[in-house]
Amino acid sequence: MSEGIGTLRELRAALDARKTSSVEIVGECLRRAEASQETLRAFVGLRAEAALREAEESDARRERGEVRSPIDGLPIAIKDNMVQTDEPTHCASRILEGFISPYTATAVEGLERSGAIVIGRTNMDEFAMGSSTEHSVEGPTRNPWDSDRTPGGSSGGSAAAVAARIVPAALGSDTGGSIRQPASFCGVVGIKPTYGRVSRWGLVAFASSLDQIGAFARTAADCAWVLEAIAGHDSRDSTSIPEPAPAYSGALSGDLSGLRLGLPKEYFVEEGVDARVLVAVRDAVADLERAGAKTVEVSLPHARYAIATYYAIANAEASSNLARFDGVRYGHRAAGAKGLTEMYCRTRSEGFGAEVKRRILLGTYFLSAGYYDAYYRKAQQVRTLLRGDFEQAFMGCDAIVTPTTPEVAFRLGEKTSDPLTMYLSDIYTVSANLAGIPALSTPCGFVDGLPVGLQIFGSALDEATPLRIADGFQRITDHHTACPGGAA
Ligand code: GLN
Repeated sequence: MSEGIGTLRELRAALDARKTSSVEIVGECLRRAEASQETLRAFVGLRAEAALREAEESDARRERGEVRSPIDGLPIAIKDNMVQTDEPTHCASRILEGFISPYTATAVEGLERSGAIVIGRTNMDEFAMGSSTEHSVEGPTRNPWDSDRTPGGSSGGSAAAVAARIVPAALGSDTGGSIRQPASFCGVVGIKPTYGRVSRWGLVAFASSLDQIGAFARTAADCAWVLEAIAGHDSRDSTSIPEPAPAYSGALSGDLSGLRLGLPKEYFVEEGVDARVLVAVRDAVADLERAGAKTVEVSLPHARYAIATYYAIANAEASSNLARFDGVRYGHRAAGAKGLTEMYCRTRSEGFGAEVKRRILLGTYFLSAGYYDAYYRKAQQVRTLLRGDFEQAFMGCDAIVTPTTPEVAFRLGEKTSDPLTMYLSDIYTVSANLAGIPALSTPCGFVDGLPVGLQIFGSALDEATPLRIADGFQRITDHHTACPGGAA
């Protein structure tokens, strides 16, 4: 088996040394993507012709000495919930079948402006609701480390494509862990920036107060390059942070001396977590200490309410956001309905899968008169307390570390009949979305041959510190360089 596509940095070096061309790299990615579809199903669509044409343009730019950015000419995949002009986007849902976008998402525009080449759209849980990429109308994506297991979700296709070395990087979205959990399950780096750091214009909304676009790659340094292309203010997203995004690559000094790492005592208990995952995370913390970091205990007293709070808020917002899929404006419309109400009903019954329906029903209930105060308002109050926990904790540390997930990748089908167990796999990740803070996952070991992720939270607006820690960790360990047997 060949080693697959290199990292962004390796590919950049090969281009600069004229050892290869963008056309060659993109062609190779497309070949790998196609060859892996039967086994992995990481993609829902490839844009072969357009990508190769753009690669030619990039090669011509390089000849003229007009390289736009470090990722000019390099391939990248995007999740199937981000739009690009004249391309389909269907969020792995039947209801958006046939939808072709008239415009391009700001984050994708950022990639285009940087010269990166979008090779295709990756598989996901329908409307990003899930933790396993099994709720997809296209069928599940498989984990490159073990094809009987899930890659995590909802950005499972992006994580699997990067892990299997089909593409060096991919975009994902993270509402409650959908970048970090699949990154952990697939042994790659995944970062969710601060809420508002990357514009959500052109990202199909799931839960608007939580949604954030971020990046997958095999190294923290590569994630920094992708973030530099997609982050920054956008007046078309009213939640967009006005300040310009920092130059993340410049923060990757490799120096971790004096950094204070907070270990939340609530997250380092052996309840509800595979003890071997905790051992791997503790070993990683010891490695970071040897590199000069110091550890301090911190407390997040409201963390135990995070899952309930998240699912109340996320489902309430989803029920409102998904009201627009009514058979009139986008995609699928039920045939033969007699009257408008019947058309709405049948379109939505046929178009949405079971998990999406479950969430719309729950969310509608949480927002209904009589229950609003007990569920939605209460959840917002707990959210404020949780945010306060993080503010307090960050007074005593520069970053907070936890496991990314309580266990390694689970088997396909293992949790689909029990939504509550599925929801519990988000136990460590949802709090970052509720608090709006940046968080990443980086590989830190293996249990039964499956990757374990170390999660690093930064304080609001500070993606640089988690990236610097993950990069420092990758300079002294090699977990992130392991290659799965299922690589294309
Ligand atoms: N797994 C979580 C959920 O099902 C998170 C999803 C996400 O971040 N998009 O809601």
